Amino acid sequence: MEEEVKAIQASSHSLGQRSIATRWMVNTLSVAAVLLVVVNICIYYFTRQYYYGSAESYVVSEANASQTILARLYDDLSSNFSSEVRNIVESFNKKEQMELMSINKDGVVTLTSSGFKPNDEYLMPDYEKALVSDNGVGVYLGRDGGKNILAVTTIISRPSASYSALRFVTSLEKIDSQIGGIMLTSLIVSVFILLVVALTGVYFVKSIVVPITRIGGTAKKFAKGDFSERIPVTSHDEIGQLSRAFNEMADELENSEQIKNDFISSVSHELRTPLTAIKGWSETLEAGYDPESFQKGMKVITGETKRLEGMVEELLDFSRIQSGHFSFQMTTLDLIAELEDALLIYIDKSKKENIKLSYNEPEFMAAVVGDKNRLRQVFINIIDNALKYTEPGGAIDIIAEKNDDAVIVSVSDTGAGIAPEDLPKVKTKFYKANKTKHGSGIGLAVADEIVLRHGGTLDIESELGKGTTVTIILPLKAS
Ligand code: ADP
Repeated sequence: MEEEVKAIQASSHSLGQRSIATRWMVNTLSVAAVLLVVVNICIYYFTRQYYYGSAESYVVSEANASQTILARLYDDLSSNFSSEVRNIVESFNKKEQMELMSINKDGVVTLTSSGFKPNDEYLMPDYEKALVSDNGVGVYLGRDGGKNILAVTTIISRPSASYSALRFVTSLEKIDSQIGGIMLTSLIVSVFILLVVALTGVYFVKSIVVPITRIGGTAKKFAKGDFSERIPVTSHDEIGQLSRAFNEMADELENSEQIKNDFISSVSHELRTPLTAIKGWSETLEAGYDPESFQKGMKVITGETKRLEGMVEELLDFSRIQSGHFSFQMTTLDLIAELEDALLIYIDKSKKENIKLSYNEPEFMAAVVGDKNRLRQVFINIIDNALKYTEPGGAIDIIAEKNDDAVIVSVSDTGAGIAPEDLPKVKTKFYKANKTKHGSGIGLAVADEIVLRHGGTLDIESELGKGTTVTIILPLKAS
């Protein structure tokens, strides 16, 4: 099966097209990948916002708190403001988390809680912002010394020469590594999702491509006349329905192939029997004859020729039906007269075969618009079948009735009957339920077509071993 998929892929590639599998995978995976990239960007953005925001509000609140302390100190006349500020910076109790700096009125760092004093070119964008801001607070989020930092400067409301602002600086390294951890987890989950999408995709595409490939391969075999293979139906979905429909088509094809072969062989047989008789008698007569055998021979030759002619006519009618050239010469006729004409042909035969033929001989006429010869042909086919499938000693009962708008003719026999499984098929072309009797299997198909084309119906009821009733209903001519 794998090879079949590869073969299909190879052939579609050679046509410059991509296989369903490749197309599906490329489409789904690229959509999933784009979505996951967008989701990851959002996760990064919102996490960063959240963490940096929390850090910022923490440092700003720290700055505000020290501002409050400083205001109190300033008001306390007993304290030395400068030394208090120095004390605050030097003994800053959150050294672990952030660094506190004091800045003089020239914007130079005078003291730091860590003891490290930056040089004079040290840039402090937050200090610049604080100077121009309304509330005296400036925030800087950016890089310093190769690391991300958060710096908040608050201008002392009543500054001295050496202490005009306090600056809180915290490294964002920890936060960055936390964000990094979240992003790593998110990326792993994304890769996992992509893998799941790819694997389920492969499974899904396989469940479509494999049966389709199989159907394609089997169809090629059908094209070569091999109808033996069937597609296993493993699901109830569209693929299952397609496989089932395909198998049904294969059954039909196989069946009609079989029926056609049977038809050809039965028609050949049918033709051979009269031909053999004609050939035999002509050879006999050619060798010399007496008046009696001449008479007998000529009777056989004429009879068999008529039979051949009838068969060829039936075949021609059938081929006309098939090609759509089945034409009718419509006139107003008496259907009862046509029925009786057909019946006459079989009176002798039924006597010879010891089959009791009864007919209700109605007094009425049944005016129907139709083709005389073809309607007579319908009755001939039906009565012929009744005789053919009824054994000597049996009976055939023909009844003609009429109501306000239709004439109903039923032909019942006490013959072999038709099995229930064959009954729906006997009207189809070439179908022979009973293969022991002569016949091409198209008599009923032709009769049914003729009746249908006259706006009527031909129904068959039958019980195997008991007998068959064929009922023909034809509309009467509107008066
Ligand atoms: P055929 O030339 O084989 O008679 P038909 O189309 O006339 O072909 O009939 C189709 C099949 O229907 C027959 O092969 C036979 O099995 C069945 N059939 C038709 N009429 C009768 C009947 N009166 N009794 C039993 N079987 C019948």
